[in-house]
Amino acid sequence: AFSMQAIQTFVRIRPWDPDKETASLSFSIDTNEVESPETENSLGYDRVFGPDITQAEVFVHVAPFLGDIFNGCNTTIFAYGQTNSGKTHTMLGPSGKLTLSPLQMGIIPRCARWIFSNINDLAKGCESDVQFQVRACFLEIYNGRVFDLLSNKGARTPLKIRAESAAGGTIDVQGATEIVVEATDSVMNVLATGSKQRATASTDMNLHSSRSHAIFTLYVEKRVREADSKGNSAGFKCHISRVNLVDLAGSEDVSRSHAAGARLKEAVSINSGLLQLHRVLGALGKGEAHVPYRDSALTRVLQDSLGGSARTVF
Ligand code: ADP
Ligand code: MG
Repeated sequence: AFSMQAIQTFVRIRPWDPDKETASLSFSIDTNEVESPETENSLGYDRVFGPDITQAEVFVHVAPFLGDIFNGCNTTIFAYGQTNSGKTHTMLGPSGKLTLSPLQMGIIPRCARWIFSNINDLAKGCESDVQFQVRACFLEIYNGRVFDLLSNKGARTPLKIRAESAAGGTIDVQGATEIVVEATDSVMNVLATGSKQRATASTDMNLHSSRSHAIFTLYVEKRVREADSKGNSAGFKCHISRVNLVDLAGSEDVSRSHAAGARLKEAVSINSGLLQLHRVLGALGKGEAHVPYRDSALTRVLQDSLGGSARTVF
């Protein structure tokens, strides 16, 4: 049964840092409202998490969105906010570290653990009739171009986005590497490989990650043995779903940051990607017939995961 609202927005408020911040923010976790510091209006969200919330509690509220992954339903989870607001902390863990204690684990490792644990439960007792395979893909979008962070060629050559993604196709980005993962540890290894490639492309990793979108995808392929009318095996029926875990570029306001030259080009590209994402989600939310996926690399890469039966959490 599909009864959840297809697009939901959660706000997580990071602990206050008295060294860096002067203003405080007013919010209510009971009414799920946050007061805008600029307009002093309260805005309502699907959920507001206060600074004391743990990584585990965040995931409790994210996990229901994964519920239909074994039934062909795609999910996308975006982390959106300014640099230093806690996007990477929430998605991956403290300071983007890859060796994490179970308590520190962010949404990505918890999603992986959730998927593998559900596969174990589902496969129990029906090993020969149901088979699962999980594959990971890790892409980066920088200046409107898509890079494969798992390519063993090591070359930073941009990938082409397919003009029209083939119906039922799993990859809409041509040539993107997919790595078969068997457990949460192998997911962490894939994240480490991709992060290393991301870091070698830049002199300052924090700066680079605030200017590019990182899209980590887990594909879940489920193959169910089909029987003919006499009960004989008639091959497998295959369903593929994906969970996209997206750490977006920083949403800071370009007009106020006095960017110039290459920095300005980056900023314009980030903002048009975020603006286009806003438009696509707006059109989907209102049920409009035309959804402008094609206008940015970010929305094109995620196209088959945002509309249709997909669910999105911000
Ligand atoms: P972003 O990815 O949005 O730029 P980070 O996730 O890197 O921001 O967070 C900035 C800093 O604040 C990091 O040192 C991170 O560990 C810390 N931080 C963010 N959110 C939390 C939180 N909920 N609890 C404790 N520390 C946090
Ligand atoms: Mg970050």
